[in-house]
Amino acid sequence: MYISNQQLKPDIIIIGAGIIGLSIAYHILEADPQVSITILEKGKMLGVGSTGKGTGSIRYPFSSTLLRRLSLLSRDFFLNFESTFDTPIDYLEKGCLMLATHGGLWDQLQLTTEDAGTDRIPMRLLKQEELLKFFPYLHRDRFLGGILCPWDAYADPYAVLAALYAAVRRKGASVHFGREATKILIKGDTIEGVETSQGTILSHLIVNAAGPYAARFAATAGVTLPVQPYRRQVYVCTNPKDVPSATPLIVDMATGFYLHQEASGKVVLLGGTDQNTWPGFDDVVDKSEAENFFLTAVETIPSAMDIKWLRTYTGLCEQTPDFHPIIGEAPGLKGFFLANGFSGNGFMHAPAAGSIVADLILKGETEQVDINLFHLDRF
Ligand SMILES: Cc1cc2nc3c(=O)[nH]c(=O)nc-3n(C[C@H](O)[C@H](O)[C@H](O)COP(=O)(O)OP(=O)(O)OC[C@H]3O[C@@H](n4cnc5c(N)ncnc54)[C@H](O)[C@@H]3O)c2cc1C
Repeated sequence: MYISNQQLKPDIIIIGAGIIGLSIAYHILEADPQVSITILEKGKMLGVGSTGKGTGSIRYPFSSTLLRRLSLLSRDFFLNFESTFDTPIDYLEKGCLMLATHGGLWDQLQLTTEDAGTDRIPMRLLKQEELLKFFPYLHRDRFLGGILCPWDAYADPYAVLAALYAAVRRKGASVHFGREATKILIKGDTIEGVETSQGTILSHLIVNAAGPYAARFAATAGVTLPVQPYRRQVYVCTNPKDVPSATPLIVDMATGFYLHQEASGKVVLLGGTDQNTWPGFDDVVDKSEAENFFLTAVETIPSAMDIKWLRTYTGLCEQTPDFHPIIGEAPGLKGFFLANGFSGNGFMHAPAAGSIVADLILKGETEQVDINLFHLDRF
């Protein structure tokens, strides 16, 4: 669908000022500074959604070609971020170490390495001896080996969000905090605007970037999105004493346990074992899981026994059944664009998502990906 500048000028309304909504706004305004954009955010301040809760990892070696593509499309944006936006985001390519405890997982890691090779993503396969030489703080008997991708990186999600926010404001977008979009207004088969907690705003073009709430918002227009929110619990702890600074993100594939070290090197975020929770918006911390969680942590890194547990928080992860995002125009509702269901990868894939949606809105097509593969129709 091609929309002329004249049609765009009245407004694009973006629902959600998380990383996806702001990246879309940024890419549209980069391509066409004349477009007028209104962003509605139900939170009272920036970063209250999933983006502010994320651990900020940027990864490449997905087994899915499509997810690798989104990572590769996002790479330059992160690499150049600090100079483009003149803002520190603690970007560091410290790698991600994926660990296998048994033959099946080891085979999986070898396949992932081969797949990454097809996209020239550098990978290192480490057998047990080598693994323990480089990472002596890992449990000595637990792991057969692991893979390390040196491109895998960390960036501070809130710093990226804040820089994007400042940039879109400078480019003229208006961002309304504490204003919830409650309903899409439709006349015949045309979008008229949105009803909000503070009155109606008219526009023929609406972008759903509502993160975990995307399905709820889409439902107000009769669009069914298979995007569900899952609670993820994060344990903030002191750094285990034998884990050096700038250590890679460590993931035990058998349990899902991960250790992410913050840029200071003094604090780690631990989590990942709650993969089997039920969908829902309840994000209350459940401390009853803590004992089992720390036992799992010690199985991966024995010195975790002595760390100090500082606090726990939760965030909601927006998931689709195939763990791939939905990007594109909603079937049967012209002007309603979706960028949802990033399934735990929304931070790292936000630059690609923003650029693709900008293409779709401004040019009616994109050459960056085969957009049909991301379409809602696939479900
Ligand atoms: C604990 C945790 C760790 C994670 N770690 C990583 C990671 O390391 N790397 C990675 O890539 N991803 C990670 N993720 C996933 C990532 O954070 C999300 O995929 C990403 O933030 C989604 O961005 P978003 O803009 O779609 O959602 P959000 O950041 O949630 O933004 C959506 C916004 O829309 C607003 N909103 C919703 N409904 C309405 C409405 N009706 N009207 C107005 N406003 C509305 C919300 O208030 C919210 O601010 C993690 C997620 C969690 C929970």
